Amino acid sequence: MKYDVVVVGAGIAGPIVARNVAREGFSVLLIDKKPAIGTPKQCAEGISMSVFKKHDIPYDRRYINREIYGAKLYSPSGYELELRYKEASGVILERKVFDKMLAYYAAKAGADVLARTEALDVIRRNGRIAGIKAKHEDEPLEIEAEVVVAADGVESVIARKAGINTYAPPHEFDSSYEYEMLIEGYDPDLIHLWFGNEVAPRGYVWVFPKDEDRANVGIGINSDNPQTAKYYLDRWLKENNVPARKILEINVGVVPVGGFVRELAKDNVVVVGDAARQVNPMHGGGMAEAMNAGSMAAKWIVKALEEEDLSLLQNYTKEWWETDGRRLEKVLRVRRVTEKLTDEDLDLFIRVLSGADAEKIAGGDYGEVIKALLKHPKVLLSRRRVSLLRQLL
Ligand SMILES: Cc1cc2nc3c(=O)[nH]c(=O)nc-3n(C[C@H](O)[C@H](O)[C@H](O)COP(=O)(O)OP(=O)(O)OC[C@H]3O[C@@H](n4cnc5c(N)ncnc54)[C@H](O)[C@@H]3O)c2cc1C
Repeated sequence: MKYDVVVVGAGIAGPIVARNVAREGFSVLLIDKKPAIGTPKQCAEGISMSVFKKHDIPYDRRYINREIYGAKLYSPSGYELELRYKEASGVILERKVFDKMLAYYAAKAGADVLARTEALDVIRRNGRIAGIKAKHEDEPLEIEAEVVVAADGVESVIARKAGINTYAPPHEFDSSYEYEMLIEGYDPDLIHLWFGNEVAPRGYVWVFPKDEDRANVGIGINSDNPQTAKYYLDRWLKENNVPARKILEINVGVVPVGGFVRELAKDNVVVVGDAARQVNPMHGGGMAEAMNAGSMAAKWIVKALEEEDLSLLQNYTKEWWETDGRRLEKVLRVRRVTEKLTDEDLDLFIRVLSGADAEKIAGGDYGEVIKALLKHPKVLLSRRRVSLLRQLL
């Protein structure tokens, strides 16, 4: 088997790369080890509305469970902050359908797709990587390719086998645990997030509604925590009198929240998405980042193949670090500051912000928000809080 490009992993990043490269007339093979692409899911399935237009993905009701109009934030002592837009700002997807449809769009654009095909290693020939060794339905398979794309998620075998350093310390990962379950009493037009060092250390508990009475109810915490994510989630359910007797699905997962891979292209191997740790380290959302990186990587793969100059792949590393990388590094700095907030700080911030202009906050005008906080006497009188806020500005 011989292709211009082999893409390992048909989650979010992989199909975007495969589709965009195949559209330009190059031969592409997209593989995934799952027998059914998209299943099982490891995701809360929330994504911004803007990605559909930006990445030319049809807004298809088959993979959209629910439109979301904003978020409600809860502090440790129960103060609430509601951020509601007039128009839907995001959706809760059905990833089992979404991932499969992304692979379908890649196939329609000309890519070949093989489910139940696991990449095991790279093929090295004459000092270069000539493709990958895989297993298709238990049969060995060698796939030769000019370019190898590692879109194989957080564990990323292929990037490592190709000699790309993807190491990040345990602190740069979140452990998550999630039930898809029946739940009542939460506005199904909003996502709901609970904060607190006792509730979810460094992270939050989420309710992402998929229906009026069905939601992804999950938690993310620092993965070097001595307790498990399940322990904190079950405790939250109990303390909030949420009966956990109608559970449709359980997902366990790891989310990279830092440790962005420096070298995104090495010779003819390119790494994208969770494999490259391209995730927002503040909230753990990685789908939009995987799409951005997938589109960018595809652009440079096409250029490199057109000009028969694989050194052009280095431009993907350069462009990502000058744009999304720079932005995510800033987000990571903010995350490191918010990690230091006490429960009292969180209460105070949510209380103060609930009196601020919700439209401005919802619009992401964080500078204004921080300035508003800096005017509050309880913040002003605490040197530590002022110093934390100044680090954010
Ligand atoms: C519990 C949880 C909740 C989350 N919630 C959200 C959310 O609400 N919104 C959001 O934006 N992000 C969320 N994320 C993060 C998001 O799921 C990921 O960032 C996103 O899926 C990354 O896409 P990807 O294509 O890089 O990797 P993945 O989606 O992980 O896809 C990788 C694919 O590679 C395949 N694969 C792996 N190894 C091999 C191999 N050796 N051979 C062949 N195939 C292989 C896998 O089967 C998989 O299909 C969440 C993550 C978790 C764990």
